[in-house]
Amino acid sequence: MKILVTGGTGYIGSHTVVELQQQGHQVVIVDNLSNSRGEVIDAIAKITGIKPEFYQFDLTDAEKSKQFFKSQPDIDAIIHFAAYKAVGESMAEPLMYYRNNLDSLINILQGMKDNGISRIVFSSSCTVYGQPDELPVKETSPVKEAWSPYGNTKQMSEQILKFACDAYALQVIALRYFNPVGAHESAQIGELPMGVPNNLVPYITQTAIGIRPRLMVFGNDYSTPDGTPVRDYLHVVDLAKAHVTAVERLQTEAQKMPYEVFNLGTGTGYSVLEVIRAFERVSGLKLNFKITARRPGDIEKVWADTSFANSELGWKAVYGLDDMMRSAWKWEQALMQQKLPGRY
Ligand code: UDP
Repeated sequence: MKILVTGGTGYIGSHTVVELQQQGHQVVIVDNLSNSRGEVIDAIAKITGIKPEFYQFDLTDAEKSKQFFKSQPDIDAIIHFAAYKAVGESMAEPLMYYRNNLDSLINILQGMKDNGISRIVFSSSCTVYGQPDELPVKETSPVKEAWSPYGNTKQMSEQILKFACDAYALQVIALRYFNPVGAHESAQIGELPMGVPNNLVPYITQTAIGIRPRLMVFGNDYSTPDGTPVRDYLHVVDLAKAHVTAVERLQTEAQKMPYEVFNLGTGTGYSVLEVIRAFERVSGLKLNFKITARRPGDIEKVWADTSFANSELGWKAVYGLDDMMRSAWKWEQALMQQKLPGRY
């Protein structure tokens, strides 16, 4: 297939492009590089030997988006990653989040409608569940009132997709990710947070390498085994492979329903302290960390029921927590060699 990957130079996008190319698909990337680097295109080519076609523009620009779709009449499917993703930033700048995440989706759907493209895989999130009443979380668990504008854009995007799917006879798969971490084993691509990281694993690796003085663990008074919050961490390469499986499911018309939703996680929850211990185990280092107050907006615990993704999508995560931490550490060390601006 010829597959348009929006946000293809980003963290999950770049890993997905690699897996798509390795399965023989042709990839076209659209990214505005607002939170990623153009060098990722060369890094992808180093891994796969194929330089993906790349267009730099903003998908919220309706006119540019229209022209782009007109110029690409043979796109078979779309995987849509391009979006803002920082929960805290979305609290401070809600309009920026609604405008960016919703306008781009609407322009893409318009492009699909105008050009007869019917298949789309959408990058959703477990944040749509909030703090679920029952664990593990199933796809049928209720979508709770959003805790942040970011989470709300994912909920709204899913609804927009559902109605567009019905009205325009689309084939849609929404993938609700839990916590993607780790990096490609080649250490050519990985997570590249701009400035101070919000997420746990890049904060751990940046602390270990000396960019940050110490990690703050946000609260140890939760009702979890060691008091720190529990999440379902998932290797980004496993996650990338799920996108290949999903888009091929659309191609082979294996869907049971035109609009499907899958949870993507390992099904196992780990606490913040367990993640730190795994990092220390694989790196042989002692991490400098301190317990501090809870971070506002954090939920206590969440992990996925992956049985539907396993049985129906035919996908299962294979990497464990140690693999995730080992690859994240290898990537951090490789990044250090590059001396990139904006990381310190
Ligand atoms: N966390 C932490 N210190 C940090 C960043 C994160 O203790 O500097 C904790 C956070 O409270 C949460 C877990 O690590 O329990 C995962 O946070 P992250 O931001 O990576 O993902 P989230 O689950 O919030 O989307």
